[in-house]
Amino acid sequence: MIDPFGRHISYLRVSVTDRCDLRCVYCMAEEMTFLPKAEVLTLEELERLCGAFITMGVKKIRLTGGEPLVRRNVMSLVEALGRRIGPAGLEELTLTTNGTQLAKHAEGLVRAGVKRVNVSMDTLDPEGFRAATRWGDLAQVQDGIMAAKAAGLRIKINAVALRGLNEHEFDRMVEWCGRHGFDLCLIETMPMGEVAEDRTDRYLSLDVVRARLRLNWSLSESGYATGGPARYFDVAETGTRIGFITPLSHNFCESCNRVRLTCTGTLYMCLGQEDAADLRPVLRAGLDDVALQAAIREAISRKPKGHDFVIERARPAAVARHMSVTGG
Ligand code: SAM
Ligand code: SF4
Repeated sequence: MIDPFGRHISYLRVSVTDRCDLRCVYCMAEEMTFLPKAEVLTLEELERLCGAFITMGVKKIRLTGGEPLVRRNVMSLVEALGRRIGPAGLEELTLTTNGTQLAKHAEGLVRAGVKRVNVSMDTLDPEGFRAATRWGDLAQVQDGIMAAKAAGLRIKINAVALRGLNEHEFDRMVEWCGRHGFDLCLIETMPMGEVAEDRTDRYLSLDVVRARLRLNWSLSESGYATGGPARYFDVAETGTRIGFITPLSHNFCESCNRVRLTCTGTLYMCLGQEDAADLRPVLRAGLDDVALQAAIREAISRKPKGHDFVIERARPAAVARHMSVTGG
């Protein structure tokens, strides 16, 4: 699949549920209305859709959400997709999780063929973690992370950089991740969906964060690249990497290789744009995979050049949907 700007689309992110057991302040409002079940694709429907993408050249699938591991029986989807890993199919199956259910699922993930996971953990401070997630228990997440490590999964910790929440903690996080052999990826907060706070109060430029980190760590630009938006730096002292995802201070769209599928079968061609293709009617019309592939091809032909994220006071969110719809 090649889009109008010559970019190869080889990466599909799938939000398997819009639900979550946490309510991170930058991601969700406290009171969220979740989708009625009838609108959500069954796991079998999601598997069929993913299968069509794999046939069309998708090499990497990342399951996300909401929280992917709170969807009932999600492991059956993980196992089904795991069976598509191979020379003619997927190269990689991964997931992004908040870690609360990882202790339960780590070994099953490994058995299904998952080799690495991204776990979101914005702070190492239990009080701060509770404040950021509204009720999360840091110890539960860290137990999940350690279970994943023990099961042999490679781990990257994702942290959104938040003024007044974790801005003085990054040195500690680099040290902690380095000690456990985890990469760390810092993310700028993006204006997606209305939340209780004004995001401009929380926005922290990662250029500033990186400059501060350089006071204590030797960072050198890394050759490592995932084709994604992160710029990686090797940390000489720890032997691990730090990635910086900076959608607001630096645009990363030229190399974008991904599209995003929601749990209702809506395909978003860009995280920062509203345009989408509804694949659910095609899926539920009883048509064959040729029709499904034609609908996917038509959607890819509309992939926009880039996003229009701007973060300014009193400006409404750049896109109305929350990050939990498309999974980040
Ligand atoms: N629940 C899982 C988790 O937290 O990892 C997966 C879904 S979550 C939406 C995926 C990632 O998006 C998380 O790392 C989260 O911190 C990030 N995220 C959510 N809302 C965001 C926002 N408005 N700006 C930047 N990152 C955001
Ligand atoms: Fe849930 Fe992940 Fe959003 Fe936090 S960032 S509320 S864990 S979906």
